[in-house]
Amino acid sequence: AHLDRIAEVEPKIDAFLHVAADAALEQARAVDERRAKGERLGPLAGVPIAHKDIFTTVDMPTTAASKILEGWRPPYDATVTRRLREAGLVIVGKTNLDEFAMGSSTENSAYKPTRNPWDLTRVPGGSSGGSAAAVAAYAVPLATGTDTGGSIRQPAAVTGIVGTKPTYGGSSRYGLIAFASSLDTPGPFARNVLDAALLHEAFSGHDPLDSTSINAPVPPVVEAARQADVSGLRIGVIKEFVEGEGYQRGVLRRFTEAVELLEKLGAKTIEVSCPSFAYALPAYYLIAPSECSSNLARFDAMRYGLRVGDDGTRSAEEVMALTRAAGFGPEVKRRIMLGTYALSSGYYDAYYGSAQKVRTLIARDFEAAFQQVDVLVSPTTPTTAFKLGERVDDPMAMYLADLCTIPSNLAGNAAISVPCGLAEEDNLPVGLQIIAPVLGDDRCYRVGAAVEK
Ligand code: GLN
Repeated sequence: AHLDRIAEVEPKIDAFLHVAADAALEQARAVDERRAKGERLGPLAGVPIAHKDIFTTVDMPTTAASKILEGWRPPYDATVTRRLREAGLVIVGKTNLDEFAMGSSTENSAYKPTRNPWDLTRVPGGSSGGSAAAVAAYAVPLATGTDTGGSIRQPAAVTGIVGTKPTYGGSSRYGLIAFASSLDTPGPFARNVLDAALLHEAFSGHDPLDSTSINAPVPPVVEAARQADVSGLRIGVIKEFVEGEGYQRGVLRRFTEAVELLEKLGAKTIEVSCPSFAYALPAYYLIAPSECSSNLARFDAMRYGLRVGDDGTRSAEEVMALTRAAGFGPEVKRRIMLGTYALSSGYYDAYYGSAQKVRTLIARDFEAAFQQVDVLVSPTTPTTAFKLGERVDDPMAMYLADLCTIPSNLAGNAAISVPCGLAEEDNLPVGLQIIAPVLGDDRCYRVGAAVEK
């Protein structure tokens, strides 16, 4: 049924970079056989899933939506991929993204833009826009994404679905093509909070193959989603994220109603100030490009996919330069240049060093806030889905889409986006962001499920 649905909607939304129809049917049959043999499989066995094409998969190409990885076949599965395979989920394909997850609209894909199923002239958000669009269009019930600076929560918000950024280190980065290693976090997409919790639980938990993986039990996210009770909970409304400029009126209205609903359900809400959040975006756009410039050095024309100009007349350095010039798109090049500059001797302290200090201040704002409240809430994004092409020539406007999501990446704590209605100006989905402390992921699901009911 899902393969039929993909055939129907894919020509309109372009959510996939690779659809593995035959392989999916084979995997589904294999799950049936495992069951017939008496193997006890988890609650998601047999359920179709799509992976953001930045998780390695042994049986399918992995491109990170970049030309530089065209034709590359990973020799191993990412931990997320492997764990979900073992749990019996059926991989139907790999979804589109902004090249190397750099972007907020999926327009930076080297292959094609993805469209928002709610309005085909609008973007599905990004960078995990293919996964979000596929779930929103009922092409798959579940998908994976990665959130480095909002890339799960922002697309979830603008396509009207649920998306979680788990606590950093709560889900494994092994086999996830690195963008900014201190921020990259795999997480789930689903159409409701309980489904997202089931997927979260299925791939999370300690992984010795990831040096920053947390060696602690997975927070009880499924139990929390079933509990869906907020009575007595203290909820902080982040002042800076409702009073700032650039917020669409309908977004603020739906957000205010969601807060009122939480009060009606028995939560206590208070206003909380996080003054350092004003510097989150500039700090992120130094830290993320710095890490990217280092991580993307491995694409050297020798080890992976593309190689340009290797005709026996050029030096290795020339081949490397030609390959990187042809293989990387403009946003990726912009970030590599920015990051290389920020890390250069003489500038390191002024840029990267300062950004790291701001990062500490942001973490402290969260710590102070979580002494007063159990969770924080804000709109997930300042506006609903924007039009394709509207922000491609204006990187600063594009970066603003992640204003409310980036602080949690810098601090490493958990956050979820759940749908909270449609904005009246354009009838497009609005997301409510619920933020919890490090390893407090269950609180995101508890509150999210209460709002959803
Ligand atoms: N839009 C942000 C960026 O371009 C976030 C990306 C992400 O979370 N992968 O860096």
